[in-house]
Amino acid sequence: MSFTLAIVGRPNVGKSTLFNRLVGRRLALVDDQPGVTRDLREGEARLGDLRFTVIDTAGLEDATDDSLPARMRRLTERAVEMADICLFVIDARTGITPTDEIFADILRRRARHVLLAANKSEGRAGEGGLIEAWSLGLGEPIALSAEHGEGMPDLYAALLPLA
Ligand code: GDP
Ligand code: MG
Repeated sequence: MSFTLAIVGRPNVGKSTLFNRLVGRRLALVDDQPGVTRDLREGEARLGDLRFTVIDTAGLEDATDDSLPARMRRLTERAVEMADICLFVIDARTGITPTDEIFADILRRRARHVLLAANKSEGRAGEGGLIEAWSLGLGEPIALSAEHGEGMPDLYAALLPLA
């Protein structure tokens, strides 16, 4: 069975890097599909033997880290509605910010299934953020390094029971 995974979180945590890693070259350009705007990128992801649709909440790049404009909230809520599973990404090097808390709140209220990922976890600089991520109350954080391709087996193991 196939499913749709939305990658959500504040700007600069590494959502698009993870999207690109999962999708590779299989990026679907969805500009002219009804209901999907340029702000949501959709692709066909491959992770081990799993095949699924992945949505990247792009179009947030110009939002600043310490504000959550209405557009960011709307875009996230739209991605959550389209998704069977939400992958909420935080930056393990920065730790949890007030903006992360706002995203967590949206997800708790709206998402069917939430998985939590602490990206930028390569090396030791991410250890504090990884531990802090437990405080969101969204379960065990998956340590990832989208840039270096680390943690993908753990992401696979978390997705498998939901697929
Ligand atoms: P987005 O705004 O959430 O889509 O984040 P991007 O994917 O554009 O990445 C933001 C920045 O974080 C870029 O400079 C990436 O190179 C960097 N980045 C992404 N993933 C990782 C990672 O796993 N480790 C580190 N150290 N940097 C990363
Ligand atoms: Mg992005």
